[in-house]
Amino acid sequence: MCNKHSEIQQNPSHFEGSAEEKVTAQHVQANFMDYIKDMKFFDPHIHMTSRTTDDYQALADAGVVAIIEPAFWLGQPRTGLATFKDYFSSLVGWERFRSSQFGIKHYCTIGLNSREANNEPLAEQVMEILPLYLYKEGVVGVGEIGFDDQTPAEEKYYRWQLDLAKEANLPVQVHTPHRDKRKGTERSMAIALEHGIAPNMVIIDHNNEETVKSVLDQGFYAAFTIYPFTKMGNERMVEIVKQYGSERIMINSAADWGISDPLAVAKTAALMKMKGISDHDIKMVTYQNAIDAFAQSGQINVEDFENNTVIDQSKTFNGNTILRGGQQPRIDKNAIVIR
Ligand SMILES: [Zn+2]
Repeated sequence: MCNKHSEIQQNPSHFEGSAEEKVTAQHVQANFMDYIKDMKFFDPHIHMTSRTTDDYQALADAGVVAIIEPAFWLGQPRTGLATFKDYFSSLVGWERFRSSQFGIKHYCTIGLNSREANNEPLAEQVMEILPLYLYKEGVVGVGEIGFDDQTPAEEKYYRWQLDLAKEANLPVQVHTPHRDKRKGTERSMAIALEHGIAPNMVIIDHNNEETVKSVLDQGFYAAFTIYPFTKMGNERMVEIVKQYGSERIMINSAADWGISDPLAVAKTAALMKMKGISDHDIKMVTYQNAIDAFAQSGQINVEDFENNTVIDQSKTFNGNTILRGGQQPRIDKNAIVIR
């Protein structure tokens, strides 16, 4: 995909003989779990509402112990306030419960996404209910908010939500646009500063080689989405960590309803290990920095996921369980016979 960057391979000495050439996509696919034994991961941006129970199980198997699910656009425009309410409620309710059934601690960020900020009559109503959710348990930030098409309406609701974040003393998770990314990123940061928000309370998301330097230089957290075909491949990510180190950088999958990979954080850790990045740096960008950033909400207690979580799939949420019609908890996914 992105062989543009392979010429800046910096540490060939980390590989014996021709091993380097063998680091192919298939290789990573087949063996990545071998490189990340005993590692723990925190994926600070993943939309589990759009994913399956198999994904939860795969995340748990790969060592993902905690996740943050930002409120986002569900793929088609919502037609009324009630669907926002139900969605926000599921982020602090059912989805968190579902995650717990796989031993994964679930947090979320709540906000009006930039795309739907352009439906102003509805956006006004959403703004009214946001404070009801921002103070709920497990809400670690306002997000994902920011610019999409960089319209005046997007700016209006971005500014408004920055004020809500400031009032609630919550970190802000900022979505940066695909088009005119550089300009949109600079504008997002300038506006946050203008609202008196400390840069260390702001996580600028979906960075690339063009934006990372400015984001770090200004003291913001720089998040990177490893997303097939579009945002960033993980070979490019390895080069960024080689160049900029691990301070204030974090990696996420942003897995959603599109073609995406919920294991992107774990696979990138494996690739970094193969390419000679230190265990310390891997831990910082796939675990610790996300915790440090979002724990500023006062909502993260690492004891909830640092040691092995007890899974009890017989638990219920409002009387509902993830088990349907007499299923046995925790079936072995690799068993050929399905009962
Ligand atoms: Zn997202």
